[in-house]
Amino acid sequence: MFVLSSPSGAGKTTLTKKIAENNSGFEISISHTTRKPRPNEIDGKDYHFVSKEKFSILVKENSFFEHANIFDNYYGTLKKTVIELLDQGKDVLFDIDWQGTQQLKKIKNLFIVTIFILPPNIKVLKDRLLNRHQGQEKLIENRMNKFNQEVSHWNEYNYVVVNDDLDICYNKIMKIVSAEKKGIKKKQDFEEIKKKIVELTK
Ligand code: ADP
Ligand code: 5GP
Repeated sequence: MFVLSSPSGAGKTTLTKKIAENNSGFEISISHTTRKPRPNEIDGKDYHFVSKEKFSILVKENSFFEHANIFDNYYGTLKKTVIELLDQGKDVLFDIDWQGTQQLKKIKNLFIVTIFILPPNIKVLKDRLLNRHQGQEKLIENRMNKFNQEVSHWNEYNYVVVNDDLDICYNKIMKIVSAEKKGIKKKQDFEEIKKKIVELTK
């Protein structure tokens, strides 16, 4: 299981899709959410879009592997989704936040590799959000305000990768994936990463 998390807009959805498109052994775990679909999103492909009522029934039934409240909406991964993908022999990709990652890390005997994605700088992040949510200033402000809080969880992850050029970032992730699948832990220069975090959050 490979988990990608990041502050909103850093590129984890783009990266998980690229990994799944280019590597047939990988499948993305499609989450349930109570947020409304964006114009280009398809129900059942990007998310299973459900009502708050339906989501809370699933919570009560203990159907979720993990779930969280993010930006006033609920998001969760069904146990059933993960079991089906593992039964098919797939490597499962999760695009989930730090709260979900913490819950998965508590489950014993999972082979789970966690990767935190950073934007190259704040301006690029804002431009990406502006591009994705044209005209929705308030929403962008909310997501930018959460940046420092989300980035503070970087050191709970096995790897941290900067998404500047998409192909370079993708190749770095695939190197991590292939090393981990061979049972080799890749070394990262955490001093460099710490410097980057200070620069991003000052
Ligand atoms: P996240 O899932 O982390 O919120 P997305 O994958 O939706 O972020 O990316 C946010 C926006 O930035 C999207 O419009 C996406 O196309 C764009 N994007 C992602 N990675 C890059 C990149 N390396 N260079 C330029 N644009 C990017
Ligand atoms: P977005 O609304 O931009 O698609 O996603 C907002 C946040 O929710 C992102 O950090 C994304 O990784 C996270 N997310 C999406 N699905 C899940 C999920 O099933 N569980 C958890 N914990 N977070 C999720």
